[in-house]
Amino acid sequence: MRKQKNIALVAHDNRKKDLIEWIRFNKKKLRNHLITCTGSTGVLVEQELNNDTLGHQLMVKKMKSGPLGGDQQLGAMIAEGEIDVMVFFWDPMSAQPHDVDVKALLRLTVLYNVVTASNRSTADFIISSHLFDEDYETRLKDYSSYIQRSIDL
Ligand code: PGA
Repeated sequence: MRKQKNIALVAHDNRKKDLIEWIRFNKKKLRNHLITCTGSTGVLVEQELNNDTLGHQLMVKKMKSGPLGGDQQLGAMIAEGEIDVMVFFWDPMSAQPHDVDVKALLRLTVLYNVVTASNRSTADFIISSHLFDEDYETRLKDYSSYIQRSIDL
């Protein structure tokens, strides 16, 4: 992944406040990267990132709202290698109508070795790592034998 990261930011409703607080604290750093969000999160993130005089208006790429397919769209981006880092503040205390989509998205972050945070502490550690602002070689597990096995069946 390049110095300029493709970052996905998502938060369930009960955790949107936490995500916005984290963004407020790390705004200056985040503005150097490319941000993609699920729909409702994206509106709030864009507002917060542009909520001062740090420079030009920053555009956040907004997918559909999570329950309407936004998580799946982010998953597709991960499968295409278009997301390097994901901060997803999911709600551990409420059931979500799109729980299966959330699970699928989190599975793909593991499969594609995406840098992932689900809570503030991990997000803080990631954003303060020197690797956050440097090129980094992401190692992907080689699944070619798995594909060959499926073909041979
Ligand atoms: P939202 O979706 O940003 O549209 O609220 C979040 C989610 O994935 O549940």
